[in-house]
Amino acid sequence: EAGEGVVDRALTAALRSLEHHEGELGRLDAVAADGDHGLGMTRGMRAAVAAARQVPPDDLSGALLAAGTAFADAAGGASGALYGVLLAETGAGLRGTCPDTATLADAVDAAVRAFTELGRAEPGDKTMLDAIEPFRQALREQARAAASVAQAWRVAAERAAKAAEATADLLPTRGRAARLAERSRGHADPGATSFALLVTAVGETL
Ligand code: ADP
Ligand code: MG
Ligand code: MG
Repeated sequence: EAGEGVVDRALTAALRSLEHHEGELGRLDAVAADGDHGLGMTRGMRAAVAAARQVPPDDLSGALLAAGTAFADAAGGASGALYGVLLAETGAGLRGTCPDTATLADAVDAAVRAFTELGRAEPGDKTMLDAIEPFRQALREQARAAASVAQAWRVAAERAAKAAEATADLLPTRGRAARLAERSRGHADPGATSFALLVTAVGETL
Protein backbone atom coordinates (compact mmCIF):
# COMPACT_ATOMS: atom_id res chain seq x y z
CA GLU A 1 0.00 0.00 0.00
CA ALA A 2 1.14 3.48 -0.84
CA GLY A 3 -0.04 5.05 2.41
CA GLU A 4 -2.63 7.55 3.51
CA GLY A 5 -3.16 10.53 1.23
CA VAL A 6 -5.88 13.17 1.21
CA VAL A 7 -7.98 11.17 -1.28
CA ASP A 8 -7.74 8.02 0.82
CA ARG A 9 -8.80 9.96 3.94
CA ALA A 10 -11.64 11.73 2.13
CA LEU A 11 -13.04 8.64 0.43
CA THR A 12 -12.74 6.54 3.59
CA ALA A 13 -14.89 9.12 5.40
CA ALA A 14 -17.36 9.00 2.51
CA LEU A 15 -17.44 5.20 2.71
CA ARG A 16 -18.21 5.30 6.46
CA SER A 17 -21.13 7.65 5.89
CA LEU A 18 -22.49 5.64 2.94
CA GLU A 19 -22.25 2.43 5.00
CA HIS A 20 -24.15 4.14 7.80
CA HIS A 21 -26.89 5.21 5.36
CA GLU A 22 -26.87 2.12 3.11
CA GLY A 23 -30.34 0.95 4.20
CA GLU A 24 -31.85 4.40 3.89
CA LEU A 25 -30.45 4.85 0.36
CA GLY A 26 -31.79 1.44 -0.62
CA ARG A 27 -35.25 2.27 0.72
CA LEU A 28 -35.28 5.60 -1.12
CA ASP A 29 -34.34 3.80 -4.36
CA ALA A 30 -37.06 1.18 -3.73
CA VAL A 31 -39.77 3.84 -3.59
CA ALA A 32 -39.93 4.06 -7.38
CA ALA A 33 -37.03 1.93 -8.68
CA ASP A 34 -35.00 -1.23 -7.85
CA GLY A 35 -33.67 -0.54 -4.34
CA ASP A 36 -29.99 -1.20 -5.03
CA HIS A 37 -28.56 2.29 -4.59
CA GLY A 38 -27.26 1.81 -1.04
CA LEU A 39 -25.49 -1.44 -1.92
CA GLY A 40 -24.14 0.00 -5.16
CA MET A 41 -22.67 3.03 -3.39
CA THR A 42 -20.92 1.05 -0.64
CA ARG A 43 -19.60 -1.53 -3.11
CA GLY A 44 -18.35 1.23 -5.39
CA MET A 45 -16.77 3.29 -2.63
CA ARG A 46 -15.01 0.28 -1.08
CA ALA A 47 -13.40 -0.40 -4.45
CA ALA A 48 -12.58 3.30 -4.88
CA VAL A 49 -10.80 3.46 -1.51
CA ALA A 50 -8.81 0.31 -2.28
CA ALA A 51 -7.76 1.71 -5.66
CA ALA A 52 -6.81 5.13 -4.26
CA ARG A 53 -4.57 3.40 -1.69
CA GLN A 54 -2.47 1.90 -4.47
CA VAL A 55 -1.44 5.37 -5.65
CA PRO A 56 1.34 7.42 -3.97
CA PRO A 57 -0.32 9.75 -1.42
CA ASP A 58 0.98 12.93 -3.09
CA ASP A 59 -0.67 12.06 -6.42
CA LEU A 60 -4.13 13.57 -5.90
CA SER A 61 -5.01 13.40 -9.57
CA GLY A 62 -3.90 9.79 -10.01
CA ALA A 63 -5.72 8.67 -6.87
CA LEU A 64 -9.03 10.20 -8.04
CA LEU A 65 -8.61 8.74 -11.53
CA ALA A 66 -8.00 5.28 -10.07
CA ALA A 67 -10.89 5.70 -7.61
CA GLY A 68 -13.32 6.73 -10.35
CA THR A 69 -12.46 3.82 -12.60
CA ALA A 70 -12.75 1.35 -9.72
CA PHE A 71 -16.02 2.90 -8.55
CA ALA A 72 -17.66 2.55 -11.96
CA ASP A 73 -16.50 -1.06 -12.35
CA ALA A 74 -17.62 -2.17 -8.88
CA ALA A 75 -20.82 -0.19 -8.31
CA GLY A 76 -22.57 -0.93 -11.58
CA GLY A 77 -25.91 0.69 -12.39
CA ALA A 78 -26.62 4.13 -13.79
CA SER A 79 -25.14 5.93 -10.81
CA GLY A 80 -21.95 3.82 -10.82
CA ALA A 81 -20.86 5.04 -14.24
CA LEU A 82 -21.91 8.59 -13.41
CA TYR A 83 -20.07 8.75 -10.07
CA GLY A 84 -17.07 7.14 -11.76
CA VAL A 85 -16.92 9.96 -14.29
CA LEU A 86 -17.33 12.61 -11.59
CA LEU A 87 -14.43 11.25 -9.53
CA ALA A 88 -12.11 10.57 -12.46
CA GLU A 89 -12.78 13.88 -14.24
CA THR A 90 -12.29 15.87 -11.03
CA GLY A 91 -8.93 14.10 -10.74
CA ALA A 92 -8.08 14.95 -14.34
CA GLY A 93 -8.39 18.66 -13.51
CA LEU A 94 -6.06 18.62 -10.49
CA ARG A 95 -2.26 18.89 -10.27
CA GLY A 96 0.05 18.69 -7.27
CA THR A 97 -0.83 17.98 -3.66
CA CYS A 98 -2.95 20.94 -2.51
CA PRO A 99 -4.93 22.74 -5.22
CA ASP A 100 -6.39 26.18 -4.49
CA THR A 101 -10.14 26.78 -4.48
CA ALA A 102 -10.21 28.20 -8.03
CA THR A 103 -8.41 25.13 -9.42
CA LEU A 104 -10.80 22.85 -7.54
CA ALA A 105 -13.80 24.81 -8.86
CA ASP A 106 -12.44 24.48 -12.42
CA ALA A 107 -11.93 20.73 -11.99
CA VAL A 108 -15.47 20.29 -10.64
CA ASP A 109 -16.88 22.37 -13.53
CA ALA A 110 -15.20 20.07 -16.04
CA ALA A 111 -16.32 16.96 -14.15
CA VAL A 112 -19.95 18.13 -14.09
CA ARG A 113 -19.76 18.81 -17.84
CA ALA A 114 -18.53 15.25 -18.46
CA PHE A 115 -21.20 13.92 -16.09
CA THR A 116 -23.95 15.76 -18.00
CA GLU A 117 -22.63 14.58 -21.38
CA LEU A 118 -22.87 10.99 -20.14
CA GLY A 119 -26.20 11.15 -18.29
CA ARG A 120 -27.98 13.83 -20.32
CA ALA A 121 -30.04 14.89 -17.30
CA GLU A 122 -31.12 18.48 -16.92
CA PRO A 123 -31.75 20.41 -13.71
CA GLY A 124 -35.19 19.53 -12.34
CA ASP A 125 -35.22 15.97 -13.73
CA LYS A 126 -34.91 14.68 -10.13
CA THR A 127 -31.48 13.12 -10.39
CA MET A 128 -28.20 13.56 -8.54
CA LEU A 129 -27.55 16.52 -10.84
CA ASP A 130 -30.06 18.46 -8.71
CA ALA A 131 -27.58 18.24 -5.79
CA ILE A 132 -24.41 18.36 -7.93
CA GLU A 133 -25.23 21.57 -9.79
CA PRO A 134 -25.87 23.66 -6.62
CA PHE A 135 -22.64 22.19 -5.19
CA ARG A 136 -20.73 23.22 -8.31
CA GLN A 137 -22.18 26.74 -8.27
CA ALA A 138 -21.47 27.25 -4.57
CA LEU A 139 -17.87 26.13 -5.04
CA ARG A 140 -17.49 28.66 -7.87
CA GLU A 141 -18.97 31.47 -5.71
CA GLN A 142 -16.64 30.55 -2.88
CA ALA A 143 -13.65 30.56 -5.23
CA ARG A 144 -14.58 34.09 -6.37
CA ALA A 145 -14.78 35.13 -2.70
CA ALA A 146 -11.28 33.65 -2.18
CA ALA A 147 -12.48 31.19 0.46
CA SER A 148 -10.14 28.38 1.53
CA VAL A 149 -10.73 24.92 0.04
CA ALA A 150 -12.07 23.62 3.37
CA GLN A 151 -14.45 26.56 3.83
CA ALA A 152 -15.61 26.50 0.20
CA TRP A 153 -16.22 22.76 0.28
CA ARG A 154 -18.28 22.95 3.48
CA VAL A 155 -20.48 25.76 2.15
CA ALA A 156 -20.99 23.81 -1.09
CA ALA A 157 -21.78 20.59 0.80
CA GLU A 158 -24.44 22.38 2.87
CA ARG A 159 -25.97 23.69 -0.35
CA ALA A 160 -25.97 20.15 -1.79
CA ALA A 161 -27.68 18.76 1.32
CA LYS A 162 -30.48 21.35 1.13
CA ALA A 163 -30.88 20.76 -2.61
CA ALA A 164 -31.01 16.97 -2.13
CA GLU A 165 -33.84 17.38 0.39
CA ALA A 166 -35.66 19.68 -2.01
CA THR A 167 -35.71 16.96 -4.71
CA ALA A 168 -38.62 15.42 -2.75
CA ASP A 169 -40.86 17.98 -4.45
CA LEU A 170 -39.77 16.92 -7.97
CA LEU A 171 -40.93 14.13 -10.27
CA PRO A 172 -38.24 11.97 -11.94
CA THR A 173 -37.93 11.99 -15.74
CA ARG A 174 -34.59 10.05 -16.01
CA GLY A 175 -33.45 6.60 -14.97
CA ARG A 176 -35.59 3.76 -13.61
CA ALA A 177 -37.69 5.94 -11.32
CA ALA A 178 -39.19 7.80 -14.31
CA ARG A 179 -41.57 4.92 -15.00
CA LEU A 180 -43.16 5.10 -11.53
CA ALA A 181 -42.60 8.83 -11.14
CA GLU A 182 -45.70 9.60 -9.08
CA ARG A 183 -44.62 7.18 -6.37
CA SER A 184 -41.48 9.16 -5.76
CA ARG A 185 -43.32 12.37 -4.92
CA GLY A 186 -42.47 13.38 -1.35
CA HIS A 187 -39.27 11.29 -1.31
CA ALA A 188 -35.81 12.65 -2.08
CA ASP A 189 -33.88 11.31 -5.07
CA PRO A 190 -31.49 8.55 -3.94
CA GLY A 191 -28.57 9.76 -6.07
CA ALA A 192 -28.95 13.37 -4.88
CA THR A 193 -29.07 12.07 -1.30
CA SER A 194 -25.92 9.94 -1.66
CA PHE A 195 -24.09 12.85 -3.30
CA ALA A 196 -24.94 15.13 -0.35
CA LEU A 197 -23.78 12.45 2.12
CA LEU A 198 -20.55 11.96 0.18
CA VAL A 199 -19.53 15.61 -0.07
CA THR A 200 -20.56 16.30 3.54
CA ALA A 201 -18.32 13.47 4.79
CA VAL A 202 -15.43 14.61 2.58
CA GLY A 203 -15.80 18.18 3.89
CA GLU A 204 -15.16 16.95 7.43
CA THR A 205 -11.71 15.67 6.36
CA LEU A 206 -10.50 18.87 4.64
P1 ADP B 1 -29.86 2.02 -11.18
O1 ADP B 1 -30.98 2.98 -11.52
O2 ADP B 1 -29.13 1.54 -12.40
O3 ADP B 1 -30.31 0.93 -10.26
P2 ADP B 1 -28.77 3.41 -8.88
O4 ADP B 1 -29.96 2.92 -8.15
O5 ADP B 1 -27.46 3.13 -8.26
O6 ADP B 1 -28.76 2.90 -10.38
O7 ADP B 1 -28.85 4.99 -9.03
C1 ADP B 1 -30.06 5.68 -9.19
C2 ADP B 1 -29.73 7.17 -9.22
O8 ADP B 1 -28.93 7.46 -10.37
C3 ADP B 1 -30.93 8.08 -9.34
O9 ADP B 1 -31.47 8.36 -8.07
C4 ADP B 1 -30.38 9.31 -10.03
O10 ADP B 1 -29.90 10.24 -9.07
C5 ADP B 1 -29.18 8.79 -10.79
N1 ADP B 1 -29.41 8.77 -12.23
C6 ADP B 1 -30.00 7.81 -12.96
N2 ADP B 1 -30.01 8.13 -14.26
C7 ADP B 1 -29.38 9.34 -14.36
C8 ADP B 1 -29.03 10.23 -15.45
N3 ADP B 1 -29.34 9.92 -16.70
N4 ADP B 1 -28.38 11.37 -15.15
C9 ADP B 1 -28.07 11.68 -13.88
N5 ADP B 1 -28.35 10.89 -12.82
C10 ADP B 1 -29.00 9.74 -13.06
MG1 MG C 1 -31.28 1.45 -8.39
MG1 MG D 1 -30.03 -1.12 -10.43
